[in-house]
Amino acid sequence: MSSNPPGVEPIPFDVIVIGAGMGGIYSVKKFRDQGLSVLGIEGAEDVGGVWFHNRYPGARVDIESIAYAYFFDPDLYKEWHWTERYAAQPDILAYLQHVADRYDLRRHIQLATWVTSAKWDAATHRYLVTTDRGDQYSTRFLVMATGQLSKARKPNFPGLDDFTGRWVQTSHWPSDPVELEGKRVAIIGTGSSGVQATSEIAKIASQLTVFQRTANYVIPAQNGPMDQEQHANIASDVKSYWDYLQGEAGGSYFPADAGLAANYGPEEQRRILDEHWAFGGHAFNRVFSDQGVNMETNTLVAEYVRNKIREIVKDPETANTLLPNTYPIGSKRIGVGTDYYETFNRDNVTLIDINKDPIERITATGVKTSTQELEFDVIVFALGFTAFTGSLDQANIQNENGKHLTEAWDRGASTYLGLMTGGFPNLFLLTGPGSPSVLANMIVANVQHVDYAADIIAFMDEHGYDTVQPTREAIDSWLAHVAEISEPLLRRQVDNYMVHVNKDDGSRIFQPYPAGYNAYVKRTTEIQQAGYPGFDFGSSEIGSRSNDGAVAIAGVAK
Ligand code: NAP
Repeated sequence: MSSNPPGVEPIPFDVIVIGAGMGGIYSVKKFRDQGLSVLGIEGAEDVGGVWFHNRYPGARVDIESIAYAYFFDPDLYKEWHWTERYAAQPDILAYLQHVADRYDLRRHIQLATWVTSAKWDAATHRYLVTTDRGDQYSTRFLVMATGQLSKARKPNFPGLDDFTGRWVQTSHWPSDPVELEGKRVAIIGTGSSGVQATSEIAKIASQLTVFQRTANYVIPAQNGPMDQEQHANIASDVKSYWDYLQGEAGGSYFPADAGLAANYGPEEQRRILDEHWAFGGHAFNRVFSDQGVNMETNTLVAEYVRNKIREIVKDPETANTLLPNTYPIGSKRIGVGTDYYETFNRDNVTLIDINKDPIERITATGVKTSTQELEFDVIVFALGFTAFTGSLDQANIQNENGKHLTEAWDRGASTYLGLMTGGFPNLFLLTGPGSPSVLANMIVANVQHVDYAADIIAFMDEHGYDTVQPTREAIDSWLAHVAEISEPLLRRQVDNYMVHVNKDDGSRIFQPYPAGYNAYVKRTTEIQQAGYPGFDFGSSEIGSRSNDGAVAIAGVAK
């Protein structure tokens, strides 16, 4: 890796992409193939993004593998065979690495490098990007492919520094082996990550203690071998399947909902719930069309899950602690698990409700709660992420006046289409807040955003524009639109990482675009076809496109 020698100008690129996960890998390919000079910068030692970092036992995707893939090249889709209905982390990481190799993308990506700042220079119409290696680059466009759930919430329990065992985070699972076999293990956090890790770690630990703050709804994934016939069918017409996904609310396949719950009698309702349980996973968010807005229907679905827990978990007190009854089902992301509730029937697994028995501190040998002192060899923190803003803040993006990107977001993220924000020209946020984002199949949503950004750049080149940013009116009107469609949602009323609560008046803003990926695709396509209303394009001589970065790539990439 080279640093700029003293006195040497920043190395220029057309596009710098920060992050080499699903969105970043595809960005590098897309922009390069468009004839732009592109540099990817990734903090990890390899590509993969969240699938590089989240390598905890049990990590697997909760979207069906058949749809959790790239569709831009039919041959790639045909050649790659997932083995399971829901691919496990090692398979997804191998897939992303394969894509990077197959399309010769690695030479455009600088690994093990963190961006320390990116500042817009209004004089040159470029971002000046610096890294922790001391490199300096300039770029016409900056693409944030850093993900919405990548900046982990750090454990800040008192006494953690005293712990003499090993502590790890699911979101940054170490590459070196974490010895869990025969060990006394604690897991703190029972969101999607904690749920998946619990089932796997219980199989190998001598003792697993799960510390639960909120009982969550966990639906069985119903994982199994991949249906290779289904794969072959899709592989025979990849383009049609991609088009089909563009018309789906989640950018993925789910069985149709059954319509209003009130249209059915109790027996029919039960049959429908049984069918969705048997299908598994996120389909349970859409058993009935009104479960996200009608509390009566929601309670029907939630009570079905609670009854399942009562049936599965043998110890009544443990079952009772696991019952999710503090929020409506689906108002936080449901967990998708494998034998999650069954795991609490194992002799080596204990559940602690930290509302009743709070963690007071971490000690040298384990965890002290208000009533007991427990010894552990390993503590696993599964505490979630600083969603949406964490990774943007980390990159230290500034406008021409040194103002940071999220500084003006104290009343929630301020974006147009979740793709761009005001005052930061030529900055694209992939799957940002205001787009379907974490509600959609993330690989599909990332590709849609990259294609959209690439089309905007092509449009600019065609018309001689140097700069693009959304107008204030377009941002305000988009935010109003998102607020309007979020208004009736039960999930807006529940604290979780998708909801921004305003500090001054307690009002609540749902951050992702909730009308469906399909509705979003329709809307963004209309905007595109109308010549990008809401985007302000500027031109001057100074920001003209640079291809010279392509030459420099050899000097900075592995
Ligand atoms: P999460 O859903 O935010 O869960 C964090 C957990 O940590 C919650 O149980 C939370 O309790 C608990 N927690 C936080 N601070 C705590 C504290 N100080 N003391 C005790 N408990 C604390 O995070 P996640 O599980 O990493 O999942 C985040 C998202 O990542 C998911 O919604 C999903 O979108 C994605 N994900 C996807 C997959 C997949 O595809 N299969 C897997 C993992 C993650 P409270 O609920 O009380 O706050």
